[in-house]
Amino acid sequence: MQLPKYSIGIGDRFAHQGKAQLRAFMKARSSGARIAPVWNKSHREHTIVGTRPEDVRAEADAATAAMGWTDPYFVDADHIGLAQVERFAPASDFFTIDVAEWIGRRADENEIAAFVSRQERFLGALKISGIAAPLQIDRQTIERTAASFLAAVQEAEQVFHKIVQCKGTDDFVTEISMDETAQPQTPVELLFILAAVAERQIPAGTVAPRFSGRFNKGVDYVGDAARFAREFEDHLAVLAFAVNEFGLPRDLKLSIHSGSDKFSIYGPVRRALEKFDAGIHLKTAGTTWLEEIIGLAAAGGDGLLVAKQIYRGAFARREELCAPYASVIDIDPVKLPSPQEVDRWDEEMFVSALRHDPTCPAYNPHLRQLLHVGYKVAAELRDRYLDALERYAETVGQNVTENLYARHIKPLFLA
Ligand SMILES: [Zn+2]
Repeated sequence: MQLPKYSIGIGDRFAHQGKAQLRAFMKARSSGARIAPVWNKSHREHTIVGTRPEDVRAEADAATAAMGWTDPYFVDADHIGLAQVERFAPASDFFTIDVAEWIGRRADENEIAAFVSRQERFLGALKISGIAAPLQIDRQTIERTAASFLAAVQEAEQVFHKIVQCKGTDDFVTEISMDETAQPQTPVELLFILAAVAERQIPAGTVAPRFSGRFNKGVDYVGDAARFAREFEDHLAVLAFAVNEFGLPRDLKLSIHSGSDKFSIYGPVRRALEKFDAGIHLKTAGTTWLEEIIGLAAAGGDGLLVAKQIYRGAFARREELCAPYASVIDIDPVKLPSPQEVDRWDEEMFVSALRHDPTCPAYNPHLRQLLHVGYKVAAELRDRYLDALERYAETVGQNVTENLYARHIKPLFLA
């Protein structure tokens, strides 16, 4: 199963926005960008919302059928390990195998030594098309990379085989993700990670490295965008080299786990993709869920009341809600308005504080990140929340479509 050149991972926590999300991809298609939608939901999200992988599959199938979408689409078992394979296998055709926690665990010493000796041919200056200066590779670098990453690749192989076993086929998309770790991977490390992936014969469709800078949930990139651009280009160059050199799948591409809304790197990414004629998988996270809240607030009346109720709940339970996301959010509690203050806001105030418009003075990234992790509160409201989504479906849906199309698809694929 081949992932098309361009794909975007979309989350839909409450499974109500499939059609609204798809509308954005249809708009893209009529503007000349063919992008495959990938509905992704992690084990963590399923647990918090109380849903199952089958619910995502049902939603994706229903939305594509209702909208007459005949291009490829996928359902992603997002950030799974060995323990989650059985639960996700039947409903998914895209598997994000997360081996970040295996990084730094040492593989068998003999295996490390054998790997290093197989890579000796790269010792010295390695010229890679697209990278100005040759990569300098010494034995220590190969050894260090093998010591850090070989066990992780071996684990990915285990998970891959278990998926094949559960599904009875290898006709699915495999992503290897190493993004949820503290240290970014260098292009040289990526080269040897891909060498190991090829040796283990994992038919990877995408690989998600950890890039430098911060990819906090729902807010813009924090870091040096120019440095990111160079690093991203080097990764693309290494990946193209590795595909040829190691015989990896021709359509292998990078996956950016963006955490949503990394607007300031969309330009550099787009230019790099053009330069290398490369594909990309851009994984977004809670941007759609935040548009639900924006749509409810914008509708006013009871919709706005539900949005305020969720904020009040999230504010009171900030520490509990933030704990599972501690490494990917930066909230300054002092900058959070009190629920009493928010209760006095009209729809416009609420929307301008939450909507990701960096040019708007009222935009509050702290409130936005708190609501990003606050979906548990909405999940606990159950029918009160879902009824509101249905009652205000039109306003909510418009915001979901417009956000995906105008803020994500356009700058990345149509600018
Ligand atoms: Zn990720």
